Amino acid sequence: MRLEEMIRLENVSFSYGVDVEPALRDVSLSLPRGASAAIIGPNGGGKSTLMKLILGMLSPTVGTVELFGDAPEKTRYRVGYAPQQARVDFHFPITVLDVTLAGRFGAGRRAGSSGFFPRFRQADKEIALDALERMGIADLRRRSFGDLSGGQRQRVLIARALCAEPELLVLDEPTNNLDPASMNQFYELLKSLGAKTAILMATHDVGVVPDVFQSVVCVNQTAVTHPTANLTGELVRDLYHNPDMRLVRHDLHCCSECEHTHVEH
Ligand code: ADP
Ligand code: MG
Repeated sequence: MRLEEMIRLENVSFSYGVDVEPALRDVSLSLPRGASAAIIGPNGGGKSTLMKLILGMLSPTVGTVELFGDAPEKTRYRVGYAPQQARVDFHFPITVLDVTLAGRFGAGRRAGSSGFFPRFRQADKEIALDALERMGIADLRRRSFGDLSGGQRQRVLIARALCAEPELLVLDEPTNNLDPASMNQFYELLKSLGAKTAILMATHDVGVVPDVFQSVVCVNQTAVTHPTANLTGELVRDLYHNPDMRLVRHDLHCCSECEHTHVEH
């Protein structure tokens, strides 16, 4: 057990079935506590699978995964997770505030509460409302989650992850359904979280990576971790196998090819 490590994978392979090409093959990676990392790579490359392994939602076919120096099943209550949005319709009648409050389960466990259904205190509700406020959707709190647009649901799921007040925030393509204004607001929020919340985020927004993350994990069946300073246009194009893939911003300090100005997915 290595207490200084937040996430550790050793020679991890994962397949969704026998005789199926592995989604991830021989992945080893180590992220220290407090370090924020972006996970980038093409669709189907294994980003979501990697996150689910880290959270103990999937077990490796081969290899070991540790989260905060222990089995992820034991430690994932310290993590706030916003999954990649499912495209399925969601009809279960539950309010936005209740979906958000569910993020407080782990916090209750940290505080030592027992029982499957913790009773939420007023303080939990205030924290949930504050998280909705920070995502700009407090006015939706009494609405049914199922009636919301994709972008609104996305923001609720992020609020739910935030209100866990986690040591690690795991976000799977959180900006996919956000309009540009909400996206900027979201990145400002991430930057404001400060050192006590580490972020692990799958994203195609390659241009914002240097602003928020110290390292970048390039995933395409295998995974290689680079310091953000080494993220160049060339690296990104190689990873996506797309010569048109461009870095978003000119102010990428380390970009060796600063004529690259936009991203094409
Ligand atoms: P990404 O998040 O980078 O788009 P995923 O981790 O979702 O990639 O997928 C990696 C590979 O695993 C893809 O080939 C995908 O089709 C496959 N896959 C993902 N989820 C499942 C599943 N539930 N059952 C079977 N195959 C899956
Ligand atoms: Mg995914």
